[in-house]
Amino acid sequence: MRCACVKNVRTSKTELDTKNAFLQQLQTLAFEFIEVSKNAIDNLSDIEHQALEKLSKDKTIIITKADKGNAVVIQNKSDYIIKIQQLLQTDGKFKMLKEDETVSRESSLQRTLRRLSNHALISKDVYNEILPCGSRSGIMYGLPKIHKTGTPLRPIISAVGTYNYKLAKYLDKILKPLVPNENYILKDTFDFVNKVSNIAHVENQHMVSFDVESLFTNIPTLETIEIILNRAFKHSEIFHQMNRKTLKNLLIICTQKSHFQFNGNYYDQIDGVAMGSPLGPLFANIFMDEFEQNHMQKLKDLGVKNWMRFVDDVFSVIENKSCSNNILEFMNSQHKNIKFTIEMEKNNKIPFLDTSVTRKETGFTTTIYHKPTFTGVYLNWTSLTARKYKISLIYCLCDRIWRICTNQNDREKEFRKLKHTLAKNEYPEHIIENEIEKFIKNRTTQPPTQEQQENIQQVPTVEQQTADELNNTILLQQLPVPPDKEKQIKYIVLPYHNNKVDAISSKLTKLVNSTFENLELRVAFQTPNEIGKKFPFKDNIKNKHLRSLVVYQVKCETCNQTYIGKCKRILQHRITEHNNAKKDSAIQTHKKLNPTHTIDANSMEIIDKADNNFKLMLKEMLHINKLKPELNTQHAAAYKKANNKDMFITQLNTIIIARKA
Ligand SMILES: [Zn+2]
Repeated sequence: MRCACVKNVRTSKTELDTKNAFLQQLQTLAFEFIEVSKNAIDNLSDIEHQALEKLSKDKTIIITKADKGNAVVIQNKSDYIIKIQQLLQTDGKFKMLKEDETVSRESSLQRTLRRLSNHALISKDVYNEILPCGSRSGIMYGLPKIHKTGTPLRPIISAVGTYNYKLAKYLDKILKPLVPNENYILKDTFDFVNKVSNIAHVENQHMVSFDVESLFTNIPTLETIEIILNRAFKHSEIFHQMNRKTLKNLLIICTQKSHFQFNGNYYDQIDGVAMGSPLGPLFANIFMDEFEQNHMQKLKDLGVKNWMRFVDDVFSVIENKSCSNNILEFMNSQHKNIKFTIEMEKNNKIPFLDTSVTRKETGFTTTIYHKPTFTGVYLNWTSLTARKYKISLIYCLCDRIWRICTNQNDREKEFRKLKHTLAKNEYPEHIIENEIEKFIKNRTTQPPTQEQQENIQQVPTVEQQTADELNNTILLQQLPVPPDKEKQIKYIVLPYHNNKVDAISSKLTKLVNSTFENLELRVAFQTPNEIGKKFPFKDNIKNKHLRSLVVYQVKCETCNQTYIGKCKRILQHRITEHNNAKKDSAIQTHKKLNPTHTIDANSMEIIDKADNNFKLMLKEMLHINKLKPELNTQHAAAYKKANNKDMFITQLNTIIIARKA
C-alpha cells in the first residue's frame, strides 16, 4: 500500500520518514504477533475435547444457551422443531412463503431506494448507508425458558445481513426521538434504583408489578406504524426528507416483509415484531408509550401513584392494596392484543428487574435480587481471555452491588455471596479479596475516577459472550464518543491465543497512540476457539448458491489449475457470470486458451467468508498470495494485455477506496 500513499498524497520528507518508520514497526509487531500466536494455549484436556466432539456430531440433540441466566441447555432436536413449528402456527402471526424471497426483495428495495435517492427523498449518504447487497434471509431459532414449566421457547430472528436490516437500523435511529425519555421509561436497573429511592412514601400504599404478556409478538404492527407516522408528521409534512407515504412504505418493508427461514421453509411475520429485529424495541416502546399517554389519567383516578416501565415490565405504587383489581381490569379491557399480569408485594417486598424493593416507613430501599434463573456462572478464571477482562468483571459486579444495595447490611451480605460465587468460578482467593478490598476502599474514600468508569464500559464479558456479541458491544461503545473528547477512539479485535498477546497489544496501542495525536486505539480480545462455536444451532444456509461475502475456488477438471475469487453478492450471480461466454472472466480466459478443458463455475468451493467487503478483499488477496492459483495469473496477464494496466494495482486502488469509504 506504500506505493499508493507515495503517489497520491503530497507529503514532506520528514512526514514520509515518520510514516515509513511507523509502517516498519507495525510490520515488526505483526510478525511478532504471528510468532507468539503459534503457541496457542489449550485449556481443555483430550477427554474433554473428545466429549465435545462427540456431542457436536450428535444430530439428535440441540445445544443452546438458556433464554435468561448463563446456562447451557441440551434438548432433543425433534422436541425443539415441534415447539418452533407450534409457534409458527399461531393464528394470524406468520405466513409460509413458497420460496426464499431474498433475491427479489433485495432487488425491489434497491430499486425503491434508487428512486427515492433520485427524487431527493433520501440523501446520498443515507442511500449508501442502507442500500442492501448480498443479503441472506433471516433465521429463526428459539431459546428455552428453563424456569417455566414445559420449557417453552422464546422465538428470536437473527436478522443481521438481511436485506432490510440496515434500513431498519437507520429508521430506528431517526425514530427514537419520537419516544420521549422523560415519560415513564426506565433506561436500566440503575435508573430504576435512583428513581425509586426518590419516591416519598405514604402509609398504606402498595407496590405491584405488571408484565405485558408476549409484548413483541402482540404489538399490532399497522396500528403502531400509524402511531409512529402521527408523531413523525405532527409538526411538518416532511420528516428527514421523507413524506408520510415513503416512511410508511419503508416501515412496512422492515416489519411485515422480514422473511426468515426455519428448517428449510420460509415465512413472513405478518403481525407483531420479531425479537431480533432492530425495530423491535422501538415498536414496543412507542406502542406502550401511546398506551400510557392515552390511559394514564384514568389509571391515576383508579389509584396509580407511580409508574415506571422497562420495555414490558412495569413497577407501580398504588394507593392501597384493594384498588389493584380495578386497575388490572381497566388495563386489560383497553386493547385486545395487550394483556397484563400482576404481581403484588409480599411482606413489603417485591422483585423488579434485578432488584428487590422493600417498602419502609421512610421510603423505598433496594437490594440485589437473584432471579430463579441465576446460575452463578461467570467468565471462568481459567478461560483463555485477557486478565483485564476478569479483573474488570470483579469490578463490575462490585459496582453493581454498590449501586443497587441501599443499606450497608445488604451490601456486606452481597459481597460475601460474590466472594463465594467468584470462588466457584475458580478465581484465586487472594485476587478476590484484594480486588474487592481495593474497590471498597476506593468507593469509601473517593468517587470513581474517569479511568475506572471507562473500565466498566470496556467490560464486554459480564456474561461470557460470543464473538458476534463482543463485536456488537464494541460497536455500541464506538457510538457515544463524548463531544468534548478530541481523540477518536478506534478498536481492533485480536485473537487471544495466550497471555503473551497482552504485551504485544500494549506495544501496539503505544505505537499507534504516540504516532497519531488525535487517535486512541483500544484492543479487544477474541477467544479463537470458543466451545460454543462447535455447536451452531441456528439453521445455517446450506445452499452455497445463496451465500454472499465469500471467497471461492474453482478448479479446471482437466488440468486441475485453480482460480480464486470473491463475491460480495449472492454467489449465484457470480456463477452465472463466470459461465457466460460473453463476459470477461478468468474461467472464460482459460477456456479460450484451452478450448478442450472442462471448467464449470457451478463446482466452485467456498474457502473463506467475511463480514464486510473490505475484509473480503483482504482475505481474497491473502488466499491468492498463499495458494498462487494459476488461473488468476493467467487472467491477470490477459487483463494487462487487453487493458494496458496492471490488475494488481487496480485491485489495490479498489481496496484503498473501500477503506476510505
Ligand atoms: Zn484447464
